[in-house]
Amino acid sequence: MSMKETIGPDKVGDSFRDRHSNTSAKGKRNWVYALKPNGKLYNYRKYLSWFYFLLFFALPLIKVNNMPLVMFNFTEGKFILFSKIFWPNDFFIFAVGMVALIIFIALFTVIYGRVFCGWVCPQTVFLEFLFRPIEWAIEGSPAKQKKLNNGPWTTDKILKKSLKHFIYFIISFLISHTFLSYILGIDEVIKIIREPLADHLPMFFGLLFFTGLFYLVFAFVRDIVCTTICPYGRLQGVLFDKDTMQVSYDYSRGEPRGKMMKNKQQDFGDCIDCKLCVQVCPTGIDIRNGVQMECVGCTACIDACNDVMEKIKRPLGLIRLASENEIALKKKFRFNGKVKAYTGILIVLTVLMIFLTITRKSIDVSMYRVKGQLYQEIGTDSLGNLFEAKFINKTRDNLPFELKLEGIAGQIRMINAHKMILEAESLSDASFFVDIPRSEIKDRTTIIQVGVYSNGKKIQTVKAKFLGPFI
Ligand code: SF4
Ligand code: SF4
Repeated sequence: MSMKETIGPDKVGDSFRDRHSNTSAKGKRNWVYALKPNGKLYNYRKYLSWFYFLLFFALPLIKVNNMPLVMFNFTEGKFILFSKIFWPNDFFIFAVGMVALIIFIALFTVIYGRVFCGWVCPQTVFLEFLFRPIEWAIEGSPAKQKKLNNGPWTTDKILKKSLKHFIYFIISFLISHTFLSYILGIDEVIKIIREPLADHLPMFFGLLFFTGLFYLVFAFVRDIVCTTICPYGRLQGVLFDKDTMQVSYDYSRGEPRGKMMKNKQQDFGDCIDCKLCVQVCPTGIDIRNGVQMECVGCTACIDACNDVMEKIKRPLGLIRLASENEIALKKKFRFNGKVKAYTGILIVLTVLMIFLTITRKSIDVSMYRVKGQLYQEIGTDSLGNLFEAKFINKTRDNLPFELKLEGIAGQIRMINAHKMILEAESLSDASFFVDIPRSEIKDRTTIIQVGVYSNGKKIQTVKAKFLGPFI
């Protein structure tokens, strides 16, 4: 195909869609040697990535009132967010939060395409701003890296490769320990490190496994995660429409592309076919072929092309964030029905999430009559039922409690009355009799209410069924 024939995605052959950009025609891996981008957007991403690294490595170290700021202890089903403990029975808040997050990402994708992948996703942030810069620093530019990889195993190559992979392994080791701090808390991780290895062998092998996994991902798998493994990436085709903003090449302005020649009148578009946009691409695609699944929206090609446009004194934005309709029909972005529907659902979920979090109780109580037990005759004029209550004290304090029968005559007789304390961050239970005068019992089953108090303050009212004789 001649240069003049390659004009716009509609006229370019679709053969590039037959396989991923990182796979050769023979099915082998095409290693992506990405050029270091330069420009405004790359700088913004760099500063953002520093902020993410700070957040990721510092969060497990932060404590408020001697409690971690965040902790996700899956093994114990205990989660701490902003130093507030969430228990398994708070899971509906997490479930609503997860659904809201998924819808938010879907909505964001419908409007802004895969910008999340390029600007926020930890895979991209770690690879592009930690692991790849180390590679550039040790092995040099993409051309030097290629030469080194294809060359014989000289002392220089052995030294460079060993140093790079050693640093990669250490960083992966740090990342896996940081992840463990999010699960067990930093104190527990420090304790594990200090204690003899033999006491924590399963943990040690687990850490080694995750260290190896991170190392493999960032040293070798790399862009395959984004183009083949990540399920979010695979969803793009369903979520995108012609109004989705994406990193796009303005083919109406750029084509026909052609090399600039000095002192020669040329009838070309703005693209001078320098291929810098391809060289900086971390997934190795040519965005001029049109929107592609492999594009992670990192915007590196926008920076590269803007730099070229500046040099050849043409308007910036030959590659820019734009929708297909904006490029093809010159239509501005508009809120379509799908975006409005997603926004509506998102608002409802967010309000529900805030409501659930605000109204979340610090002590949860459930109460039920002990199964298999009938009523007991208490004296001549009352009946008794044996009840059990379960308490979850989500606070960090041991709390005294008392139970009061409400709205009906009668009394509560505690079993183990000396143990009227709810231990901090624990599950407790209590057994007790509820005695009710016969005169109050009008049916086989009577609904009773019990008020739960702590330090004179009512925490909750719980209802239960009181069983009497057939009337
Ligand atoms: S095409 Fe551009 S935005 Fe997409 S991944 Fe490549 S460099 Fe990043
Ligand atoms: S960087 Fe711009 S000018 Fe150069 S090939 Fe890409 S689109 Fe064309």
